[in-house]
Amino acid sequence: MATTTQALFREDSYQKTMEARVVGVNDRGGILLDRTVFYATSGGQPGDTGRLRRADGSTIAIAATITGETKDEIIHVPAAGADLPEPGETLTGEIDWERRLKLMRMHTACHLLTVVCPFPITGAAVSEDDSRVDFDLPDSGVTKEDVTARLMELVRADHPVFTRWMTDDELAANPSLVKSKNVRPPTGTGRIRLVGIGEGGTIDSQPCGGTHVASTAEVGEIHIGKIEKKGRENRRFRLRFGPMPAS
Ligand SMILES: [Zn+2]
Repeated sequence: MATTTQALFREDSYQKTMEARVVGVNDRGGILLDRTVFYATSGGQPGDTGRLRRADGSTIAIAATITGETKDEIIHVPAAGADLPEPGETLTGEIDWERRLKLMRMHTACHLLTVVCPFPITGAAVSEDDSRVDFDLPDSGVTKEDVTARLMELVRADHPVFTRWMTDDELAANPSLVKSKNVRPPTGTGRIRLVGIGEGGTIDSQPCGGTHVASTAEVGEIHIGKIEKKGRENRRFRLRFGPMPAS
């Protein structure tokens, strides 16, 4: 039976460590805990890596974090050859914070990109150095220089980024909040997590389960590395850290 892991990262994306109890170890060696700060791969954002420390001081390296039978079951995948804990043990977990912070900055930058380019989203993938968002956009008519300049305006404006929960009914009454063309937010659980940018979400509001920085200034300097044509109707925008290289 699937277990439900308390997802601490959903309430506080800046929490780096936690104490947790081992609920079980599955037949493939995946570690299930009662609560975790480890984000599980989902919505285009890769899961966390890090370590679990046992009471005797030894550590278990975590190479990946994924969801199990349900989205609420989080599985910590140990590195090959790691010792496995016993159910009932209490562990201290710590994520690789430098990596996670980069992913949070990139993920937030992807939201900003959907503000600058308000087109239906057909795909997205966040990674540490290079992220992409695909739009249903037959002719972009925009340059990477223009998009970069508008992204950096939003970054410099230092808008707050926040989350709040809304009901399925509230979302049904506001269908324009959903920007993704193919992926519908998971409804049916009664509540949906909304990520807002700007006071009251005036810059942007959309359902998202990922981790974000608390203000747009924390994204730091970013640029559009490339706008690629993907088929007749799609444009792929690649986001990178740092200033735009001189061409
Ligand atoms: Zn998000």
